[in-house]
Amino acid sequence: MYNLGISLRMSSFLDNDIKFLSGVGERRASLLKQELEIKSMHDLLYYFPFRYIDRSKVYKISDIHDESQTLIQLKVRIESTAIHGVGAKKRFTALVSDGSGVATLVWFKGINWIEKSVEIGREYLVFGAPSIFKNELSIVHPDMESMLAYQNRPRGDMQGMYSSTEKLTNIQLGSKGIYSLQCNLWKLAEPHITESLPSYLIKRYNLMTLKDALYNIHFPQSQEDLNKASTRLKVEEILGIQLNLMSQRSDRILKNNGFIFNRVGDLFNTFYSEKLPFSLTNAQKRVIKEMRNDTITGHQMNRLLQGDVGSGKTLVALMTMLLAIDNGFQSCMMAPTEILARQHYATIVNMLDDLPITVGVLTGSSTKKERVKLLAELENGDINILIGTHALIENSVQFKNLGLVIIDEQHRFGVEQRAKLWAKGSKPPHILVMTATPIPRTLAMTLYGDLDVSVIDELPPGRKPIKTLHFYDSKRLQMLGFIRQEIAKGRQVYIVYPLIQESEKMDYRDLQEGFESICAEFPPPDYAITAVHGKMKPAIKQENMELFKSGGVHIMVATSVIEVGVDVPNASVMIIESSERFGLSQLHQLRGRVGRGAEQSYCILMSGDKLSKDSRTRLQAMVETNDGFQLAELDLKIRGAGDINGTQQSGVVFDLKLANIVRDSEMIEKVRELAIEILDDDPELKRVENSTLLTLKNRYNREKDIDFSMIS
Ligand code: ADP
Ligand code: MG
Repeated sequence: MYNLGISLRMSSFLDNDIKFLSGVGERRASLLKQELEIKSMHDLLYYFPFRYIDRSKVYKISDIHDESQTLIQLKVRIESTAIHGVGAKKRFTALVSDGSGVATLVWFKGINWIEKSVEIGREYLVFGAPSIFKNELSIVHPDMESMLAYQNRPRGDMQGMYSSTEKLTNIQLGSKGIYSLQCNLWKLAEPHITESLPSYLIKRYNLMTLKDALYNIHFPQSQEDLNKASTRLKVEEILGIQLNLMSQRSDRILKNNGFIFNRVGDLFNTFYSEKLPFSLTNAQKRVIKEMRNDTITGHQMNRLLQGDVGSGKTLVALMTMLLAIDNGFQSCMMAPTEILARQHYATIVNMLDDLPITVGVLTGSSTKKERVKLLAELENGDINILIGTHALIENSVQFKNLGLVIIDEQHRFGVEQRAKLWAKGSKPPHILVMTATPIPRTLAMTLYGDLDVSVIDELPPGRKPIKTLHFYDSKRLQMLGFIRQEIAKGRQVYIVYPLIQESEKMDYRDLQEGFESICAEFPPPDYAITAVHGKMKPAIKQENMELFKSGGVHIMVATSVIEVGVDVPNASVMIIESSERFGLSQLHQLRGRVGRGAEQSYCILMSGDKLSKDSRTRLQAMVETNDGFQLAELDLKIRGAGDINGTQQSGVVFDLKLANIVRDSEMIEKVRELAIEILDDDPELKRVENSTLLTLKNRYNREKDIDFSMIS
């Protein structure tokens, strides 16, 4: 949510409560607030149509012979009215004429209100969908506007349609009702609209003025004017947001209170030359260099590392932690699940070999005794690296000198949690957030405006691209045959079932049945099968994972708990059951569990025979590409920006009214650069020519920080 708070420069009229507008009043005002968050005149003025309908043409009744026009407009006089039927069957009709013929207008709802508001003998503009029955024209629930009202409102051939809600529609504030309010408001508001952008920007980008833009967004005078209005208002919106994000960034840099890691010491060098089992990819080298540069500036690092599944982020994290230790600091690494935390711990201990580094692990299932010992060692600085889950952020966890925090697959870490981590030291530690969910560039810029973004855009060499196939359930036998064949070659197989919260029980049953049928298909002693799911005790889950990892079983049946980060190079087949129930990014994540070894890997997407268009598009895309970034862009297109990875529910991130993350990506990039340019020159927007920008910035000030937990 942006804080649409009162700013000093905004003229007072627009700050008035919406209830004072004619046609509103207390009752409607309270519903407008509740349903659409329209509280003030200003809020209504900035409540824009979602589309426009063409009202340039006025038809003659005699010209309408069929229903081929979906919407028509007539100019008619009311000849007579009548009420028919009773109770639920009650309807109100008006007989109208325009000199060329007669037609009937019909209402089934809101009868009392319409009966009072239409006047016999008066002229109206009538707008609605025509229906023809026995050669007679009628319109059900038409929009009505008296010619008198028409002549007194802002004119335009395109009429805005405003989204509304059922509750508002019930009190005559549907699209048309809101449109009438906009007409009322415009007359009063116009003299109070003051320009929100500096004139140098308006000139430089040849933008429409705010007053013209607001007029044309509500009452377009032509398509061209509408386009200009929309561009102008988008620029204003994006600039308002970016000025906030970019100034958070310059504040962070100005504070200059970051730890300095200016030594590349023994640990880093020894690890690099003696322990690293392979050479780093160029992308890994570049990212390490970027972080090295960040950590010598004296500013706190705040970096997002994006790298597709299997691109080797853990190693990059480890090397950055070595850098911290070489400079006398502790590090911690947080993972979203117990399995992943324990796996990171094992991987890292294994890679460090005999280097003099102490690594600790803390999760929900650590025993009390382990905890006490660990916390003491952490506080006196004996532990160099702490790996764990949410348990890391509890107050009892105190570091001696925490210099670096790494958040892996950050899905479930919120702002408050990050803030708690910050509070664990005298200065804020450097932060590295890692994610395999490729967030499209523009989205990252809008969401994480204050984060620098690094990308690992290269997989370690020797990986064969995963082959992805889509099988309808009718081809199940073939799939089973394929599994047998791969197991005979010494490979291991994952079979994954969907887990969707609302129907957890049902999913669990799916998994249970699936497990049983797989056991029947692959009986012992020839085959060994294990399972993991969310309801299992962590210790058992861990044990089953280990069993699979050690090669002791052929098939792992799982719910999507294995989605994140599990690394079993010998597993080369991923079967995803009911794949149409997964989102694209989830499918891609799951697929990333295979293809980690040298063998050819496969991902088989099983689905029901009937698929929706979107499901088909998703599965098709999975078959066609392995590129996570491309899939993420597509996901965004299919689902729409508002819904990306559940951000919609958060209600925090996407309050873009006009600009669209996908369609306007170029504009977002340009405006972001503009924001940087403006702030470089005038960080606090103190110059006279930027005074309007300060107001704009305050208007879009985010009340809340972005919740990382919403982005998965
Ligand atoms: P992710 O980015 O998904 O977290 P991981 O860090 O788990 O990926 O790495 C995936 C696998 O690739 C691991 O087995 C890791 O040891 C291996 N790996 C990482 N970097 C390289 C490299 N430069 N060359 C070869 N293998 C690598
Ligand atoms: Mg990982």
